[in-house]
Amino acid sequence: MLIAAKLEQVSKRIADACERAHRHPSEINVIAVTKYVALTRAQEALDNGIVHLGENRWQDAKEKWEQLPLSSAVSSDKPIWHFIGSLQSNKAKDVVGKFDYIHSLDRLSLAKAIDKQAEQLDIVVPCFIQVNVSQELTKQGIMEGQVYDFLNELKNYRHIKPIGLMTMAPFEVEPEATRPVFRKLRQWRDDIQNRSDGTSSITELSMGMSNDFEVAIEEGATWIRLGTILVGEKEE
Ligand SMILES: *Cc1c(COP(=O)(O)O)cnc(C)c1O
Repeated sequence: MLIAAKLEQVSKRIADACERAHRHPSEINVIAVTKYVALTRAQEALDNGIVHLGENRWQDAKEKWEQLPLSSAVSSDKPIWHFIGSLQSNKAKDVVGKFDYIHSLDRLSLAKAIDKQAEQLDIVVPCFIQVNVSQELTKQGIMEGQVYDFLNELKNYRHIKPIGLMTMAPFEVEPEATRPVFRKLRQWRDDIQNRSDGTSSITELSMGMSNDFEVAIEEGATWIRLGTILVGEKEE
């Protein structure tokens, strides 16, 4: 299916979810996750007005990062890149300076590696703190109760700007079952805001994927990360 058609369907579902939650679609930033697809398919997303691209691994992203936008393309805008996969500290140098946002900051050793690289490049990297709300042992992310301490520690890393929280809900056949996970992440974000009298830079919520983005929007998502449903699973 063409991305134009997929985007039309997804946009309608986003608009409907926003209406149910009394939100405006302009509050929702859509990241097209291109990890499953090739260069031309990623360009097709850009040609359809997608601005944000997400990838999990530098090896998978490299060709797209180096070549997009294609010179033959309708859209000649450079994508805004999001690193959404788990990141080993020794790979931070591949990512910092190339990706505009990192969604998977979940430990101090990684913060240190990102900060070091960012300092060398003289940049500040906007990062989401990945939280393991569902407490699955297989999932990345900071556990409940450690978020505030982690944020305090991050103040020592001046080349990192924490801008929000990110989580992945467990896959559920019935998307409604993910709601408590998203609600909890929003409550933590609100709590951080309240503790800081609203001055915290933690304003964003990166949550919701193909299977559960509507529930995430209803619970306050400001960034949704869509792979399968928006660009496809593999070349079609
Ligand atoms: C792959 C991936 C996505 C997109 O997954 P879909 O279910 O295909 O939408 C979103 N977020 C993260 C962190 C991912 O790894």
